[in-house]
Amino acid sequence: MPIAAKARQAMQSQSWIRQMFELGLQLRAQYGAENVFDLSLGNPVLEPPEAFRRELRRLADDPSLGTHRYMPNAGYMETRQAVADRLKRDLALPFTGEHVVMTVGAGGALNVVLKALLDPGDEVLALAPYFPEYVGYADNHGGVARIVPSGEAFQPDVEALERAVTPRTKALILNSPNNPSGAVYSDDALRGVARMLANAEKRLGHPVYLVSDEPYAGLVYDGLRLPRPLLCHSASIIVTSYSKDLSLAGERIGYLAVRPDCPDAQELVNACIWANRVLGFVNAPALMQRVVRALQDARVDVAWYQRQRDKLYNGLRGMGYSLHKPQGAFYAFPRSPVPDDVGFVKELLEERVIVTPGVGFGAPGYFRISYSVEERVLDGALDGFAKVAKKHGLG
Ligand code: PLP
Repeated sequence: MPIAAKARQAMQSQSWIRQMFELGLQLRAQYGAENVFDLSLGNPVLEPPEAFRRELRRLADDPSLGTHRYMPNAGYMETRQAVADRLKRDLALPFTGEHVVMTVGAGGALNVVLKALLDPGDEVLALAPYFPEYVGYADNHGGVARIVPSGEAFQPDVEALERAVTPRTKALILNSPNNPSGAVYSDDALRGVARMLANAEKRLGHPVYLVSDEPYAGLVYDGLRLPRPLLCHSASIIVTSYSKDLSLAGERIGYLAVRPDCPDAQELVNACIWANRVLGFVNAPALMQRVVRALQDARVDVAWYQRQRDKLYNGLRGMGYSLHKPQGAFYAFPRSPVPDDVGFVKELLEERVIVTPGVGFGAPGYFRISYSVEERVLDGALDGFAKVAKKHGLG
């Protein structure tokens, strides 16, 4: 066999998101794209803001020489400094460009941080429902993801986290606003997490790092102020990107930022810079680093996502589905009306509505809806949800 056993095994147990994507292609071929309502992908549907196009055009005409060459592995200092200035303003912590490393999206940042932190067998805690790539990302660097169920309304269950700590616990990944639940972690929940991490560090005698995965930090609704995980623990690192709030997912641009008073902050940043190089990223895309430098305050139209959220939430509630109102990101995570979420997702497929079963996120009995879709697609999907709700006597 030419390929590694691990790769073969991973390909056989293909992710649910990928399986739903392929089913979507089949349904489109069969019924025509306009008759398929695909809510399975977390792909930003809005175009980037006009400020992005303006800056891109300006930079394309910039006569400076050498702008497409290699650069330091951490990225352009001017961009790192622009990110640090924004973080300093938002978090009131003394960030400088030296605390920031530009990365190939949030996915790249997560891999860089985990490579810098993990020794073989080290454990990374994450809360279910979770972004499924966490498991593979921890494994990439010899680590093990330990999945802990969330508590009420998908908030962190602090006691369950406490119980999951072992001498090998190295980090906790938090993701708020959350994919797939749309939950925003409350101040109260984060205070609980802070206590749990402080206790764990005391018991273990080494730092337990909080990795705050926050690519949806710009997508928060109803005027809510986003409680910031980084503020609750010194040994903390932000990993994020411009994929969602600027709709630049395909451009692969993001960053990591180490909290200035993190133990051994400089050594950790240096380890991340090394990881960025040896993982083969080398540096984040040069042109995109120059573009986002000037766009620290730009956003897509968040009100549009909120209107989609409202239409979906009110629609599903009216039909009798049970779900928490998403407060951020662009997902909803309703309870499946029957315990078998995969079976329920298949019923929706008969109405040409594609969603992802909760089992794919470590939470069977639920299903994930992405409302980052054209309005026509959401309207068509709501008709399908209504038909299936009637079949189950909801409402
Ligand atoms: N983390 C979460 C929770 C995500 O949902 C995603 C993408 O969907 C990522 C990380 C990866 O983001 P990026 O496209 O910036 O690599």
